[in-house]
Parts: sequence; structure tokens; C-alpha cells
Amino acid sequence: MPRSARLLPLLGLATALQAQTPPADLIVHNGRIYTVDQNRPFVDAMVVKDGRVVFTGAARQAMTFKGAATRVVDLDGRTVIPGMIDAHGHLGGLGSSLRTVDLVGTTSYDEIVARVAARTKDTPPGQWIVGRGWDQNDWADTRFPTHEALSRAVPNHPVYLVRVDGHAALLNAAAMRAANVTAATQDTRGGRLERNADGSPTGVLIDDAMSIAGSKIPAASDEELRAATRAAIAEVNKWGLTSVHDAGVSRREVAVYEEMARTGDYSLRHYVMIQPDDSSLATFFRRGPQRGLYNGKLWITAIKAYADGALGSRGAALLEPYADDPKTTGLVRVAPERLADVATRALRNGFQLNTHAIGDRANRMVLDAYEKALAAVPSGDHRFRIEHAQIIHSEDIPRFAQLGVIPAMQSSHQTSDMYWAGNRLGQGRLLGSYAWRSLLNTGVIIANGSDFPVEMVNPLISFHAAFSRQDGKNWPVGGWLPQEAMTREEALKSMTIWAAWAGFMEKEVGSLEPGKLADFVILDQDIMQVPAELVLRTRVLSTWVGGKAVYERKAAM
Ligand SMILES: [Zn+2]
Repeated sequence: MPRSARLLPLLGLATALQAQTPPADLIVHNGRIYTVDQNRPFVDAMVVKDGRVVFTGAARQAMTFKGAATRVVDLDGRTVIPGMIDAHGHLGGLGSSLRTVDLVGTTSYDEIVARVAARTKDTPPGQWIVGRGWDQNDWADTRFPTHEALSRAVPNHPVYLVRVDGHAALLNAAAMRAANVTAATQDTRGGRLERNADGSPTGVLIDDAMSIAGSKIPAASDEELRAATRAAIAEVNKWGLTSVHDAGVSRREVAVYEEMARTGDYSLRHYVMIQPDDSSLATFFRRGPQRGLYNGKLWITAIKAYADGALGSRGAALLEPYADDPKTTGLVRVAPERLADVATRALRNGFQLNTHAIGDRANRMVLDAYEKALAAVPSGDHRFRIEHAQIIHSEDIPRFAQLGVIPAMQSSHQTSDMYWAGNRLGQGRLLGSYAWRSLLNTGVIIANGSDFPVEMVNPLISFHAAFSRQDGKNWPVGGWLPQEAMTREEALKSMTIWAAWAGFMEKEVGSLEPGKLADFVILDQDIMQVPAELVLRTRVLSTWVGGKAVYERKAAM
């Protein structure tokens, strides 16, 4: 009683002060808001001013920030989470795949011609149109197509359409002209042209002969790169992503991103990992690490290196031979001394080093190189990372925590690889694979991601896999090696605050709390509560970056 009596005059004072503070831009209320803020994890209202969260808590208090111009969003019981962060994706790869005409699933040559013709509407004449995914075995007439129908429908753009398996390409007449493909063109070593009876090319190039035309397709211009980037950002926003850690970006791409972030709408917190060649390193070391450039749009603070290849193609570097190919232990793609040298220079210049390592030999090699560099340049808060960290020898699992190395893992890879990973590795070695729980138990955090466009953009695929260890069809029952699952709370953190921390972004994003940027997502159901098998039915209703809606789902019919 005495306590509330003392508070009363104070509350009166607070209200009086509030009346003088300028009203909020946005109030979101009447929903289930998961803030990922330890102090206040679950609230029903949030207030935004000047792009930042200024209050989270009870709706009644939130409404005291309301002014005449305040936008009020009634969630009607729906769910809000912080904007999701993909800690390992490829925005450039996504952009170019979005610009490629998708021919997968076409059931006739006419359909292919129609899809390419549609693309000419937003492509200047003379510019190449690239498509991918046709398969004449799916058509009524299963012979290879010939160029005439395509050339008639698309006379003014060179067209290059790759078969579903990547081993053949169909050209139109304009492309054949541009690449000088004629009856006189010789077959190549390891490749050939399909020809009519008179020797003239039909338009189909096989295997190595594809390069006759493929090599003539110009690299994307700056304008094309900008268009692809805009398309990729729109795509990731659509899936509830507001930040992406971009795993390997050229200097030219960084320049394009910088110009876009500086001059226009750029609805992404974009953390780029620069390439590890000496001239890129020299350029960016001179500038020093830069975080939150252009109003929290661009982070240039990390280097991407590669230690090995991938498991599917037996390129992952293993300590012992592959179970299904005892002649090989995979590929090492960097000399250990070079990696230690780059790591040392990164530490001296205040950069992170994020190294791709899939196999247990590669992971050990990277940990050794990091250890050596840290001995030479002791550094408290380096946040070095290993990208993927898929297969780790049991003795190396505690070394992540000991060295302060962050495993940046993609739960989606576990559910994509689980059907055949056992063949490659044998059952014993699987125990240290996709070992999220074992790593978390040592005290590290895990930055989650998807590796789009290798995997799908939808971050909820990794969220779901992280705690269920199941694919989209909820297979296998009970989960694959379920002892390595995260909890649902950890899964949410791995795509928000932990991913933010892994990019030196945690002061700006990763949770909804006063002072941070108002990046959030409204979902049509509560992903923290619905049964696991329903999580992938969740729809993103809207995505907000800095308090502005950058994606809004059209009302369902
Ligand atoms: Zn990748």
C-alpha cells in the first residue's frame, strides 16, 4: 500500500511528461509479440518512433504514445517476431536466379516459347535472356527442340536456355548470330552441335559446345545488377527476412550495394563477407571495419574464405576416407598457412574471418589456423566464424567455445542431406554431424541460415528443422538424430539475436527492445506454439524494416 501510494504522484508526472513527448509513428497492439528481449520476452504492444522501437509492453501504456498522425496496427491476435536474419545466404546468386527464366515443370515447347516471350516485355532488345530447366522428356514430342519457333517469337533478343541437367542449351537465331554459330562451326572436344540434314545447326548445343554461346553472354551490367538486387531484396522481404549475411561478395558488388544503400530505398540490413584475395583485403583493410553504414543498411566487417568443398560431391575434407568411396578424403581448398595468415591480418585490422568448412578435417584445420592467429594477435571480441561446421570430430566440438569461434550452421542442410549423409560418412561419423545440441552445450551460440539459393529462401524451413530435425513432410518420425535438436526458443534466437551477434549487429537488430531498429514480421499463426507439423504452413502477413512495411501480403480470396 505505501508503495503504490508513493508511485501515484510519479505516475502523474510520467503522464505529464509523456504529453509533451512527440507522438509515436506506429503502434502495434493486440497480438502475441515475441521480442527475444530477455527482460521482456512476451508483450502485447510495441511503439515505434523514427524507425526505432521506443516501447514494448502493455497495450494500455502503448496507447499513451498515440497522436493524431500515429498509425495503429491492430494485430487481432496475430504473432509478431523480430525481423529474421539469414546468417548465410547469397543475395547475388538469388538475384541472378530470379532474373533467369524458370522453365522447370514446363510440359511443351510452346510453353517455353511463351515464357521467354513474356520476359522480352521488361528486357531491352539486344540483351540476352537466359533460362533454365527445360526437359523434352516431359513433352508430348520428346525429340530435342529446334530453334525456329523460338526465333520467330523472340527475334530481337539473344536467348540461351539451359536444359534441366545443365548438359545442353537451346539458342534462338539471334543468339546463334551473336555467337557466330553456323553450319561451318566445328564440334568441340567434349561437345557437339545438333544439326539438320544439311549441316546447319538446330540451335541445340551439347556439353562443352555450350560454351561457344555461353562465353558470349556478357557479365551483368551495373543496371542489371541493381535490378537483380532489388528483386532479391523484395524476395527475401517476402519471406520475413530483414537482414542477410551475404557469404562471398566481390568488390564490384559491394560498390553497387553501397550506391543503392546510400541513394535509395534499401529494405535490408546487409552484412557482406568480402572475398579473400589480397587486393580485396588491401582495399577493405584500408577502410577498416564498417558497421551499420547508410542508416543501418550495410555492414562491411567480415572476410569469407573456403577450406573445402561440399559433402554431396565428396568435396568435403574428411579425416578418414569416405564410407562410400574409400579412395578419397575430399578436397582442401586453401593452404593452412595461408588461412592462418589471413586470420592474423584480419585480427590486426579488426575484421571477422568466416571460413567455409564442411568436413571434420576442414573444421580442424580452420580451428588450428584460428588458434595460431589468436596466439599471435590476442583478441577478445573477434567473432571469427566457421560457415557450415557440418561434420566435427568429437574432440573439436569444445574448441569452438574455447576459441570463441561461432558456428554458422544452416538447419536446412541437415534436412536436405539426411537422406544420403550416412552413405558418405558411415553411421559412427554422423554423431558429430549437424551437432547443434552438442555445440550449444559447450556454451557457444549458433547463427542459423538457409544458404539460399542453394536452399529455399523461406527461413521457417531452418526454424522448423532446428527443433524438429524433420523435413517439410515431417519425416522422419521423431526427427533425425533428435538428440542434436535445438529448443524452439533457441531456434528463434538462432535466426534473430544470435545471428545478429555473429555479425556485430546486435546493438541495432535481433530483438525488439527500446533503442533498436523496428524490424519485425507479422505472422498468421504463432510459430512458438503451433504443433511442429503446422509451422511450415505459416504465412508472412507483412515485413517491416525500420518501422516501414516493405512487404504486405495481398488479402487471400
Ligand atoms: Zn553458401
